[in-house]
Amino acid sequence: MIYFDYNATAPLHPAARAAWLEACECFIGNPSSPHRMGNRAEKALDDARQQLADFLGCHPLELVWTSGATESSNLVFNHASQLARPRGEVWISAIEHPATLAPARHYFKKSVRSIPVTSAGVTDLNWVLESLKKKRPALIAVMAANNETGVLQPWQSLAAICREKEIPFFCDAVQWLGKLPANELGQCDFVSGSAHKFGGPKGVGFLKIPAKGKLKPLILGGKQQDGHRAGTENVPGLLAMLAALTERETALHQNQHQIRLTWRNEFESRLTAISPEISIVGLREERLWNTCLAFLPDSGCRFRWVVKLDKAGFAVSTGSACASGQEEPSHALSVMGYSPAQISRAIRFSSGWETSPSEWTQLQVGIASIAENKDIA
Ligand code: PLP
Repeated sequence: MIYFDYNATAPLHPAARAAWLEACECFIGNPSSPHRMGNRAEKALDDARQQLADFLGCHPLELVWTSGATESSNLVFNHASQLARPRGEVWISAIEHPATLAPARHYFKKSVRSIPVTSAGVTDLNWVLESLKKKRPALIAVMAANNETGVLQPWQSLAAICREKEIPFFCDAVQWLGKLPANELGQCDFVSGSAHKFGGPKGVGFLKIPAKGKLKPLILGGKQQDGHRAGTENVPGLLAMLAALTERETALHQNQHQIRLTWRNEFESRLTAISPEISIVGLREERLWNTCLAFLPDSGCRFRWVVKLDKAGFAVSTGSACASGQEEPSHALSVMGYSPAQISRAIRFSSGWETSPSEWTQLQVGIASIAENKDIA
């Protein structure tokens, strides 16, 4: 089976596995315990905190360990709702992941405003600038890169606008981290990340918070993490996350993603040559080097392509991992203006650092032969 669903989750990187095993053997103490074994675990976590802060360009004390990006997002909206004035609004891009959409709606109810996106899936900066002339939200949230289309969002500009206007800015950097350099993300007030998207273990993540003020916690209990998030820290998981991120940041530093972008682009050229019915979403926009969201020839039901490709030995997705378990069409594609019929033809291919050019070729050949046989339905 060839795996093309890295945006849903990535396999554990060997360095992460080694760090996890080492931590289980060497850092067995509770980081909050007063003895030397506790101190060793605490020191290992402090080092990991410093490493992550260096990658993001922020202060180590601005980092909170969490169980993943969904918890991080929930922390942000819970916090913002407690500080907001009555009926204070949050503005979130129309293509946010459910991990952001759902807590925004839960904590802000009808005071959630959707920032429109272009038909290519880019958040409309002008809408934000114009709307800010009339209103001041309690928080603006825009992801760094979309999980379905891979289209990069103007988060650097939004972070700068928000900083100038002193409006808190939250960036879900789940799909960006480990694929593109993290070093400017520290400029955002809040940043969420999730280890399993870049080769770390599942159930481990973080939230970057502003230096000023105290985060309103969601999980109450002991005094861990300065009271921001109670509960004994997942030392092996966190050290494994940093081991994976270190590998990815090193590869990025060596520009190893550039050649992978070429492989993806070559795949897209060959894919669109198969049939005039095939097109790529956000083709002309800057996108993650690993993601291709394509409209394939009509199969009557979008799961047929997934099933056919599965049988042919390829693991692909219909969009976000959350959406693929349900029959509902992708909300991101809907707000970009695509019809339900078009959305039913959308298939996402997302590669990893490990994916070879020959695997991309095999995928294209597999799609071509399924399309030729025309027995998709
Ligand atoms: N944000 C984005 C953009 C994602 O793609 C995902 C996972 O699919 C999440 C948030 C949720 O991450 P986690 O699995 O760590 O809760």
